[in-house]
Amino acid sequence: MSLRLYNTLTRRKQDFSPIDAKDVRVYACGPTVYDHLHIGNGRMLIVFDLLFRVLRRAYGAGHVRYVRNITDVDDKINARAAERGIPIGVLTEEMTAIFHADAAGLGCLPPTVEPRATGHMAEMIEIIGRLIANGSAYQADGHVLFDVPSMPDYGRLSRRPLDEMIAGARVEVAPYKRGPMDFVLWKPAAGDEPGWDSPWGRGRPGWHIECSAMSWRHLGEVFDIHGGGIDLVFPHHENEIAQTRCAFGHQVMANVWMHNGHLQVEGEKMSKSLGNFVTIHELLTSDKFGGRSWPGGALRLAMLRAHYRQPIDFTVRALEEAERTLVEWRRATDGVEPEAPAEDVVAALADDLNTPRAIAELHALKAKRPGALLGGLGLLGVSFDGLPAESGAQPREGADFAAFMGLIAEREAARRQKNWAESDRLRDALAGLGVAVKDNKDGTTSWEFRP
Ligand SMILES: [Zn+2]
Repeated sequence: MSLRLYNTLTRRKQDFSPIDAKDVRVYACGPTVYDHLHIGNGRMLIVFDLLFRVLRRAYGAGHVRYVRNITDVDDKINARAAERGIPIGVLTEEMTAIFHADAAGLGCLPPTVEPRATGHMAEMIEIIGRLIANGSAYQADGHVLFDVPSMPDYGRLSRRPLDEMIAGARVEVAPYKRGPMDFVLWKPAAGDEPGWDSPWGRGRPGWHIECSAMSWRHLGEVFDIHGGGIDLVFPHHENEIAQTRCAFGHQVMANVWMHNGHLQVEGEKMSKSLGNFVTIHELLTSDKFGGRSWPGGALRLAMLRAHYRQPIDFTVRALEEAERTLVEWRRATDGVEPEAPAEDVVAALADDLNTPRAIAELHALKAKRPGALLGGLGLLGVSFDGLPAESGAQPREGADFAAFMGLIAEREAARRQKNWAESDRLRDALAGLGVAVKDNKDGTTSWEFRP
């Protein structure tokens, strides 16, 4: 399997070639455990779990190291523990347990290593010491700050103009800062705040340094893939890169940077004030979204219907359709032995995790090769667990996503076999669903809804 991945660093889709094919190394920024994770966090978990599964298939399950950290020291954690009147450790243990249940509910494999920030103070102190020694960081007023102007190519990942970066850094104006973009590596801990002894006094780390320390300890100075949500590109990932590169003197921290797109809920930005804020835990266990709870497989399939780099609109309707599709697939595969995933499914995923295409291929397999459909679902990490006996969701008027994606895949297959009569028949069937198809010169097909 040859894999192509879009790299945020180069803004191009490139052939992926690991530093060591026997030890492919991936890091993704995990959650800060102060509250339940929302469904936007769920998208990140699913996308990088899928990457992990695809890499395991390509290089062998024993040859991929996936590190997803837990941030268990943070101002938000301190504030929430104080608000609830419980010790910090009790809060982080409680939220970590819920997070683990959420990730399992979404069908995510445990990562190879799940480091916690509090277990990596020695590595953070070592990196900060190196940065001070080589002039990349300075001490001021009990803090240690990264000196951004000391790094000439700071900003290579996000490619933002300087004034935008200054505005985007949203830094509090602190008199001890030399430059507006300088960021905190270490800060003093007040009396009862959690703190660790360091050469710069009792204190705690800034957020960015945690990931530089954990990725170094578990993956080395340079590794293959670093991932996270698109909102982490700046400043978090830019600052991770600055710390790691300046501490170890390499041209890159990771060769490939992958970011998943934003998530909206029912067409709007998710926010607590709009009342559309929904957690993974609520989706799996309560009736808050659409008046009922949802099986993890339906959540996962609904999420994967959009390509990971595209924005996604997370809706009740999409969940209903995903669930109905899974119920159909379960019926079609009843008593069938799973086979290896079909080549077309694997090829779609190897092309920068093209899940819409992979799902269309699965629809096409339903009648002809149900065993390969099961294998493909296994590779996507989508299970039938918790599905209702029959889907309660009824088909609605208008185009049905599952149905039309299936027809498009069947039509593409017919065209490959030069079966023009069948291709025309399927074009008419699609038109009946309100979908207009257009055949492009390069052999691909595009389509659009015609209301
Ligand atoms: Zn990070």
